[in-house]
Amino acid sequence: MKYIEIKEMKIPALGLGTWDLRGKHCTDAVLSALDFGYRHLDTAQMYANEERIGEALRRTDVPRKDIFLTTKIRPPRLAYGDVLESFAVSLDKLQTDYVDLLLIHWPSSKVPVSETIKAMNELQADKQVTHIGVSNFSVQQTREAMDASRTPIITNQVHYDPFRSQSQLLEFCIQNDIMLTAYSPLAKGRAVNNSKLQEIGEKYGKTAAQVTLRWLTQQNNVSAIPKAGTPDHQQENLNIFDFELSWEDMEKIFELHGGVFKKLRSLIGII
Ligand code: NAP
Repeated sequence: MKYIEIKEMKIPALGLGTWDLRGKHCTDAVLSALDFGYRHLDTAQMYANEERIGEALRRTDVPRKDIFLTTKIRPPRLAYGDVLESFAVSLDKLQTDYVDLLLIHWPSSKVPVSETIKAMNELQADKQVTHIGVSNFSVQQTREAMDASRTPIITNQVHYDPFRSQSQLLEFCIQNDIMLTAYSPLAKGRAVNNSKLQEIGEKYGKTAAQVTLRWLTQQNNVSAIPKAGTPDHQQENLNIFDFELSWEDMEKIFELHGGVFKKLRSLIGII
C-alpha cells in the first residue's frame, strides 16, 4: 500500500468506495476488502449503509485504529444543530467512537459553510472526528472552507478519472497540502473497457482498471476510492503498487481528457 502524506499524517492511497453497496452484500464486501488489506473505507449518510459498515467494523479482526474511516454529512443536514444530531446517528450506526474523516458531501446554497464547519470543529474538539474535509467543492469554495475552519481541511473529494480533468483543483491541492480524493475513479466502470488503457496495461501485465488506479495514485496528493463489491475486483484494484507507469504512459492517459497543464507536470511529479 502506498500512503499519502498530508499535514504530517499518512493515509492509505487506495480506499474502498461503498456507494450502492447495501444490506448483507455491503457487510460481506467490507469484510472481504479488510481481509485483502484495505484500510481505508468511504461511506456517507446518503449511501444508507453506515449500519452495514458498522456491522463489518464490529465483526472484523482488524483493529479499529488501523482503519481510516470516512463519512459525509448529507446536504439537508448542514445547519449547525443538524450536523451534530445527524453525526451522532452516524456514529451509532457505524458502531465506533470516532471517524477519521468527516466531509461536507456537497456545498450548500442555503447554509453558510462557516456554520457547518463550526459544528465539525466542535466534533473534532470532542475527539469524535479526527480530520475534516469537503467534497464536490470548487477551488474558491475550498478556500472559503479553509478560512472558516480552526483546523486544516485535509481533502476535497471530487470526481476524477482519466476522462475528466481536475488540473486546477489538483494544482491548488498540491500547493496547499490537501489530498485530492478521486471518486468514481474507474468512471463507474467505463475505464475498464477503454482500448488505450487496455493497451498500456498489456505492457505491464495489468488490466485497464489497474492502470487507471495506478495513474491516479502515482500523482502527488491523489488517493482513489474505487467501489468494488466483487472480491475479484477488490483484489485486482489493490494490486497496483508493484509497478510504476512511465512518464510517457502517464501523459498518454492525461491525453484522454486533453493533456496535462505544463505547470502541473512538475507538481504531480512528471519531470
Ligand atoms: P467507480 O468506483 O468508478 O466504479 C464502480 C464500478 O466499477 C462498479 O460497477 C464495480 O463493479 C466496477 N469495478 C470495480 N473494480 C473493477 C475492476 N477491477 N474491473 C472491472 N470492474 C470493476 O464508481 P463509483 O462507485 O461511482 O465511485 C467510487 C466511490 O466513490 C463510491 O462508491 C463512493 O464511495 C464515492 N463517491 C463519492 C461521491 C461524492 O459525491 N463524494 C460521488 C460518487 C461516488 P463491482 O461492484 O461489481 O465490483
